[in-house]
Amino acid sequence: MGTPLDSREEQVVEVLDRLYEEYPDTDISLDFSTRLELLVAVVLSAQCTDERVNDVTEDLFEKYRSAEEYADASEEELAEDIYGITFHNSKAGYLKGIGEILVAEHDGEVPDTMSALTDLPGVGRKTANVVLQHAHDVVEGIVVDTHVRRLSRRLGLTEEERPEAIETDLMGIVPEEDWRMFTHLLISHGRATCTARNPDCADCVLADVCPSEKGDSEIDLDSGEPW
Ligand code: SF4
Repeated sequence: MGTPLDSREEQVVEVLDRLYEEYPDTDISLDFSTRLELLVAVVLSAQCTDERVNDVTEDLFEKYRSAEEYADASEEELAEDIYGITFHNSKAGYLKGIGEILVAEHDGEVPDTMSALTDLPGVGRKTANVVLQHAHDVVEGIVVDTHVRRLSRRLGLTEEERPEAIETDLMGIVPEEDWRMFTHLLISHGRATCTARNPDCADCVLADVCPSEKGDSEIDLDSGEPW
């Protein structure tokens, strides 16, 4: 077991320092070139890999270039065009609904407030945070996905379980200028080393400060279960 720093604030700064060093170029891994494309990609990425989303959106973004085009398409056609994405039928409905609301209420543009974004179908706080950060450069919170949840808990940064509660907890300890990169750094580390099933603690740059480190700790603080 590694030894975490005395306070969660110090622990988070140490984790950030080391991960900035380890993943200097990390950023969002979804492909997009407009705000609308980003919104669509993030909606499609719920419970689906970014790689799969990027495969599908390559053609999708050629075909649908405006909110009107999503609004005017039939759900069946949209579902076919995003086939291969998890829950493609429901997400086709979201895309059409999003297109309709953007046209009716926002002149076809992607809004820049948390409340307007979360009023769109298929858009929760996590999706809205990603869109605000990467489309509008507005950082209102911390994106908590499955990697951020798992690593924050393993590293002793939070004991909360629900994404919204984890976000609030983290916002109290992560320096505000790092809110956006915190997510990308933890996602990169979650993919490369601290994977869900078999984290490579022996080769982890955080091992000596991680209270879940497998070498000595018997417990994975994320699941609360023995390794
Ligand atoms: S890989 Fe192991 S040591 Fe590194 S952060 Fe994950 S649980 Fe901790």
